[in-house]
Amino acid sequence: MTGSDRAAVLADRWAAVRKRVARACADAGRDPGEVTLVAVTKTYPASDVLILRELGATDVAESREPEASEKVAAVAAVPGPPLRWHFVGQIQSRKARAIAGYAAVVHSLDRAAIADRLGAARPADAGPLAVLIQVSLDGDPNRGGVVPDAVGGLAEHVTGIGALRLAGVMAVAPMDVDPAVAFARLREVSDRLRTDYPDASWISAGMSNDLEAAVKNGATHVRVGSALLGERTP
Ligand SMILES: *Cc1c(COP(=O)(O)O)cnc(C)c1O
Repeated sequence: MTGSDRAAVLADRWAAVRKRVARACADAGRDPGEVTLVAVTKTYPASDVLILRELGATDVAESREPEASEKVAAVAAVPGPPLRWHFVGQIQSRKARAIAGYAAVVHSLDRAAIADRLGAARPADAGPLAVLIQVSLDGDPNRGGVVPDAVGGLAEHVTGIGALRLAGVMAVAPMDVDPAVAFARLREVSDRLRTDYPDASWISAGMSNDLEAAVKNGATHVRVGSALLGERTP
């Protein structure tokens, strides 16, 4: 496929996903400006990120190091509008320093020790790093996230770290649960968190297959990969 063929494919998919988000907002009676579309570009090359940036993408997510750092550098080398980089994958402690260097938002915080590492490594001139606490909605720790009852404790820890800003919660709908049920549960976790931390208002929920259910349940950030870029080869 030539570069311009790929650009045409991504332009079509970008428009289609934008339309899905807009329709989901309309159906939920929400302002589309409340929902940020985060393009998840893992496994796809920096050239795809550049195409998405041309199409108007402002927020891009990665889930693995060093793939993410390499892509950030490749994209930064090409002049264009600024992009916010999000990190959505499990964070190994030795990778926290790299992530704290380029990320605007980390969606996948689930351990106090990682919060400490991110905070310590955050460059002073970068401003606070926004972090979302990843919530496990089925109690399966293998997929990352803390159980709902542990969110408050981790939130308190994060707010004690000056270089971090507690921004809200994130979840991936468990495979065997109706996403509408899962995201309603996440919204309850968010409501509870916001009684203590009113500014922690972001809800990162919804992917290619379930973004409508997420928007209906208050998502402020949807993380869309395959619907924009194509199915990933494992
Ligand atoms: C890969 C990934 C996504 C995107 O998933 P798609 O189904 O491809 O849209 C969203 N969130 C996280 C945490 C991911 O790892």
